[in-house]
Amino acid sequence: MRPRDASGDVDTAAWRSTMCPYCGVGCGLLVQVRDGRVTKVRGDPAHPANLGDICAKAVHLPPILGTADRLRHPQIRVRRGAELERVPWELALRFTADRMREIITAHGPDAVAFYASGQLLTEEYYLGSKLARGFVGTNNFDTNSRLCMASAAAGYARSLGSDGPPASYQDIDLADCFLLLGTNTADCHPVTFKRIRRRKLQAPDDVTVMVVDPRWTETADLADLHLSLRPGSDIALLNAMLHVLWREGLLDTRFVAEHTTGWEGLRAVIERYPPERGAALTGLSREVIVTAALRFGRARAALSLWSMGINQSHVGTDKNAAIINLHLATGQIGRPGAGPFSLTGQPNAMGGRETGGLAHLLPGYRLVSDAAARAAVERHWAIPAGRLPSTPGRSALEIFEGLARDEVRAVWIMCTNPAASMPDLDLVEKALRQAELVVVQDAYHPTETTRFADVLLPAAQWPEKDGVMTNSERRLTYLPKLVDPPGEALPDAVILTRFAHEMGWKEAFPCASTAEIFDEFASLTAGTVCDYSGVSHVRLQADGPVQWPVPAPDHPGTTRLYTDAVFPTPDGRARFLVVEHAEPLESPDASFPLVLTTGRVRDHWHTLTRTGKSPALASRTPEPILEVNLGDARRAGIQDGDFVEVTSRRGKVVAQCRVSAAIREGTCFLPFHWGRQAGFYKSANNLTLSGRDPVSHQPELKACAVRLRRVAEAIT
Ligand code: SF4
Repeated sequence: MRPRDASGDVDTAAWRSTMCPYCGVGCGLLVQVRDGRVTKVRGDPAHPANLGDICAKAVHLPPILGTADRLRHPQIRVRRGAELERVPWELALRFTADRMREIITAHGPDAVAFYASGQLLTEEYYLGSKLARGFVGTNNFDTNSRLCMASAAAGYARSLGSDGPPASYQDIDLADCFLLLGTNTADCHPVTFKRIRRRKLQAPDDVTVMVVDPRWTETADLADLHLSLRPGSDIALLNAMLHVLWREGLLDTRFVAEHTTGWEGLRAVIERYPPERGAALTGLSREVIVTAALRFGRARAALSLWSMGINQSHVGTDKNAAIINLHLATGQIGRPGAGPFSLTGQPNAMGGRETGGLAHLLPGYRLVSDAAARAAVERHWAIPAGRLPSTPGRSALEIFEGLARDEVRAVWIMCTNPAASMPDLDLVEKALRQAELVVVQDAYHPTETTRFADVLLPAAQWPEKDGVMTNSERRLTYLPKLVDPPGEALPDAVILTRFAHEMGWKEAFPCASTAEIFDEFASLTAGTVCDYSGVSHVRLQADGPVQWPVPAPDHPGTTRLYTDAVFPTPDGRARFLVVEHAEPLESPDASFPLVLTTGRVRDHWHTLTRTGKSPALASRTPEPILEVNLGDARRAGIQDGDFVEVTSRRGKVVAQCRVSAAIREGTCFLPFHWGRQAGFYKSANNLTLSGRDPVSHQPELKACAVRLRRVAEAIT
């Protein structure tokens, strides 16, 4: 453990440094442990991601660790309809291995799928990926990052040649223009938002903040320019901004000529996006589009930040390309304060991408379709040449669709709650009922998903195990084990290793420490874009967090990528991609006249399995609130505080509403945290649709058509 200087009431003997297990900001925490329990959490001033700041979710971590619904013992259901029974670990894992073997023998390895989580540690991700691909023999290893960041990963890879956000949090302190798209940073990445606000308040006349969002949020409150566009029209806006920059001579023509390809093809399309057309497609005024473009184009250093509002779209990958096009055209990449910078939702979604946590990836950002990459990984894992399957596996939604169609027979779910977080929950529940084998490895029970389990495996959670996570800015932080897990719960890496032994793969999965597992993975990244072969647990503990690439033990880490304007494409140039506006998959019509957009609130995390148990957080935001525009409310006969039934083509929700002008007319908003366990009609994913981006396979969670009906008036 790295010693820390402490000040004030910080007691150096009792406070340990680690990282927050919630969002992708990846804040460093100081955690007080007394009598084997976490008693207090505060921000770590020495951690570069947050410099001491934290948000309420982290402060209220202690009460959620030892709740009565922690899963403490393995359980199995010997047949469908039977009750879950407590069994010893050996029996649970033997039962799982026997059932897996039967299914693989009868239907082949692709009848098995693994669905993991951006909250796993890097070592756990790596073991899961290795187990599924190299030993079970399937690429059906996907994660809930598919719902979150897949479009950003695909966007970087298509435009820049590789995944990997080029910028850093440090760039926030250096930028003079912020373009925030589809991100309510104030609620979803509060500490990053504080840093943006600090920068703005330091130089209010020199720093421009532009927020692109159909809702007026606390983030928009900071904005010089709030672009309240029609949901889904981001590409039209970005193309029109690029049109203005081109017409006004604000492009970096030298950068374009020397470091990119494809400008002429894109220019031909951009010509068709004058700001007037942009205005017609986005619902914004021509003037506001021109102003936004000029502020971006005249900035010394422009930083674009975005999250789910961009990624959760059937054209999410194209939206990412449109943002990157803007940066390439103006040379705003690879230099201080500038760059495209996607904000990761989960604490280790980045680690998942690095270890092969998406169905088309192998560790080290390698593609399963690349023969040389497969050969390198096969050598590393000491498995026969040709063993690794070459076609991408099923993405998140495809796993559940496959289960519903009997094409997939078994699913192993780790550290996530798809029966609450996936779109179109009826389909997900049907899939889990239909499956021959559902294994769920979780810290809590019951959740919406664990009630479908045939095998329940109790997992340790933060900070009951040790390992590494990578935050949004490519920064690796070591998280030590600080307390023991309850009951018989085990770290996920230990569970996977023991299962591998039951399957007869002991040699490939020795009972290694997490430090040894990390070393095995880190050496496999050597020579890749996300090279962190120079990192080890010992180094992270001694020197603190570091940003990849870190190709040697004495390498200091890398603040930003592409400072030499050389990109990991075959010709070293970044690519302009032609992208066009496309309407959302479901447009409003007479039966469903509004667009519903879903998202997070500041006090909750994902499906409430943790934040819902914090009395402080739960009492601050106890119920989902539907936000409705004044005009839409008037037309539907709804008043502020009424209980409203929201209906889409897939289901219904009932929620109390807040009527205001803060949300764009024609649009309403509902947070997605509440699953059916909280109340069947509270779940936003009763309404959402499973349509998705054809490249990233990320579902369009941000737009579906709904109608509203008042079911009860406000209780006064
Ligand atoms: Fe944790 Fe994110 Fe809050 Fe930081 S901003 S304390 S990482 S939830």
